[in-house]
Amino acid sequence: MTAPLPGTALLDRATHERLTPGEIEALYHLPLPEVAAAAHHLRLTRRDPHTVTFLIDRNINYTNICNVGCNFCAFYRTRRQKDSYTLDFETISAKIRELEAVGGTRILLQGGVNPELDLDYYTGLLRHVKANHPTIRIDAFSPEEVLFMEKTFGLNLDALLDTLIEAGLDGLPGAGGEILEDDVRAGAAPARIRSDDWFRIIDAAQRKGLYTIATMVIGFGETYAQRAAHLVKIRDQQDRARRDYGGNGFSGFAMWTLQTEHTRLHGKAPGATAHEYLQQLAIARIALDNIENIQASWPAQGFKVAQAALYYGANDLGSTMLEENVVSAAGGHGRHRATVRELIRIAVDAGFTPAIRNSRFQIIEWPDAEAVLSRAEDNPEAARAVGAG
Ligand code: SF4
Repeated sequence: MTAPLPGTALLDRATHERLTPGEIEALYHLPLPEVAAAAHHLRLTRRDPHTVTFLIDRNINYTNICNVGCNFCAFYRTRRQKDSYTLDFETISAKIRELEAVGGTRILLQGGVNPELDLDYYTGLLRHVKANHPTIRIDAFSPEEVLFMEKTFGLNLDALLDTLIEAGLDGLPGAGGEILEDDVRAGAAPARIRSDDWFRIIDAAQRKGLYTIATMVIGFGETYAQRAAHLVKIRDQQDRARRDYGGNGFSGFAMWTLQTEHTRLHGKAPGATAHEYLQQLAIARIALDNIENIQASWPAQGFKVAQAALYYGANDLGSTMLEENVVSAAGGHGRHRATVRELIRIAVDAGFTPAIRNSRFQIIEWPDAEAVLSRAEDNPEAARAVGAG
């Protein structure tokens, strides 16, 4: 067995060579400032070093009824609970009109796994959004929801995805990744989609040219080896997708920390501190040498830590969201939305030029940051309005 490289040599090698699973695990034991410096160096070389991007979008949770019952979820309801809901298409349209009014380009449409919905609801919803909001991209349904549809509607995965794509689906968010090691998943959510199915569904989506991102949640009590294994599985999938599917793999990587308030894991799972979050983000940037875009997470960590994350490997601030119900139901950081001005300010104050992107991480607008920030200063109320600027 070869002896592990000392920390400095390992980080030096990480800046130009792929690390093994054991070497990724070793990064967790190195001083964070040194890991962060390597991650930031890689961020500067892999993406435009001057630019931080973000997306104007809205999360819409079309139903909160779910029969999976994850122990870490405070969002879901059973259908008998008074505050359970399923949104009708017009209510969803009204939410999208608010997004259009602030220049938004994408909705993230996800629900619980509601056993009362039939295929017509899903395809009808996609068709309704495409017909009434033709400029809005629809990234919808986690692998968990797709697995439910596959089991319920008598279609194999290929036929199901073709049906959803024909109805208007543009992308499949990679939600529900958490830690893609089944020992961790079984403890946190016994009925949760298993890692093989998660990758099988993501792989099929990438084969069909759909947008996907890779996700990760830390704080279940997982080991460093399990975190490293999660990253290596993501990296392997990205290699496969890029090789076999014309370069269409994960557009980005998003990672956040487990929130347990109001959940059955409260007091049982350790969660993760800001230090652990930044460490994990930096290690992801180093390990995922084939994913260019690494997102900072403000809903779980707050704006200040998200801004710091721009020096720990992140090149993107995620999105404004306008509405976030899942992380916030379990605590979050008290913020369910960000204004355009807030994200511009985070980027500018950290020394970067902000740019508005689409969901494929293509830049669609360079906002006049100086004008946006000075206008808000003159009118503090405007600064708080959704999408001000
Ligand atoms: S995390 Fe998703 S699948 Fe799990 S209970 Fe909540 S809504 Fe259902």
